[in-house]
Amino acid sequence: MTIKSFIFNPFQVNTYVLHDETNEAIIIDAACQEGHEQEAINAYLKDNNLTLKMLVNTHCHVDHLMGVKYLATKYDAPFAACKDDYYLMANAPDQAMMFGLEVDLPPDMNQYLKEGDALKFGNSELQIFQIPGHSLGSIALYSKADGVVFAGDVIFKGSIGRTDLPGGDFEILIQGIKTKLFTLPAETVVFSGHGPSTTIQAEHDTNPFFNQ
Ligand SMILES: [Zn+2]
Repeated sequence: MTIKSFIFNPFQVNTYVLHDETNEAIIIDAACQEGHEQEAINAYLKDNNLTLKMLVNTHCHVDHLMGVKYLATKYDAPFAACKDDYYLMANAPDQAMMFGLEVDLPPDMNQYLKEGDALKFGNSELQIFQIPGHSLGSIALYSKADGVVFAGDVIFKGSIGRTDLPGGDFEILIQGIKTKLFTLPAETVVFSGHGPSTTIQAEHDTNPFFNQ
């Protein structure tokens, strides 16, 4: 599996394009807001001869949703996320307005993802973990074959997601990270929603939220 990352919009969200030898692709957290950001995605898909099969969101905070409507419409691609984040979808434009930004209302979810699901594209498969606490419907997507996990805003290099927004819960987030992420193989690479990648080992051993 090839992983291409982009950093988009004023919130500096990591958008990931995943594809494999079949040339099927999915996009995790399509955050491309401005025209040149959308064009960067279009160019990458075209240059690599990729077929976009699905848009997937780790969660539905507005900064992670900014390109979903555009790409879903342009490529006629379905949108998948956890149903528990539905409460964030309807007010995405209001969330954006608070920051002085405009955002298209994201399309309805075409597929709901939940704990234990396997999301497949091409020859690749991602296992879904539900890890609430940053938002009610936050998920992580784990590829066992590639040893990578896409964690959204659940965990960052040296930090964790904020828990002071609606649906946030600090204890539940900590518990979810311990029981679901920290039980993955230590060498698993973690791709977060913001900032650089890290590993399960590094966060287990040095993340200040788990090491006092
Ligand atoms: Zn978030």
